Amino acid sequence: MSLRTGKTGFVCNAPTFQKEKEIEDFVISAIPKLERRIKPIPQSSEGDNVWIFGEKVLISGYASLTKEKQNLILKRYLLSFLKEVNPIHERNMGIETSYEVKVRDCKTVYGVHHTQKRYITYSLELVHYKKDTIESVVSHELAHHYVHAHSKKFYTILLKECPNYWYYRKKLIHHIYD
Ligand SMILES: [Zn+2]
Repeated sequence: MSLRTGKTGFVCNAPTFQKEKEIEDFVISAIPKLERRIKPIPQSSEGDNVWIFGEKVLISGYASLTKEKQNLILKRYLLSFLKEVNPIHERNMGIETSYEVKVRDCKTVYGVHHTQKRYITYSLELVHYKKDTIESVVSHELAHHYVHAHSKKFYTILLKECPNYWYYRKKLIHHIYD
């Protein structure tokens, strides 16, 4: 049997003829373990204090702005940083024609590489993280210039550019901003 989280609650998979009581016992014993694994995403802002590049920054009036206006501010921070570091990593990694960078309010992935159209979309979520954590995502997306799949070859290229990649990856998974 297995237990995972679904959109509206826990989802348990069990063989068709498993006794109901056994399923119940299994679920009850498995829930605490699962709960420990799924920590809620930390607040990216508290009032006018916003996590930007791994630090709490005071932007007066931020809390009273609409979500769109807040995102616009965050986007400006992130985009200017990405425009600065993307070319640096391109040069390091021997990529000759540069990629355009875009930022989108996306919570499911941190970056999407568009090889044909030559642009990379980064998630606005990244703005909350420390700059070196963001750069690990930049390195990841640029490694896709050479290898599309997350293969051994892909990680060889990526780890050469970002040796501490797994350390940053953990921070992203656990939403550790600082
Ligand atoms: Zn990837």
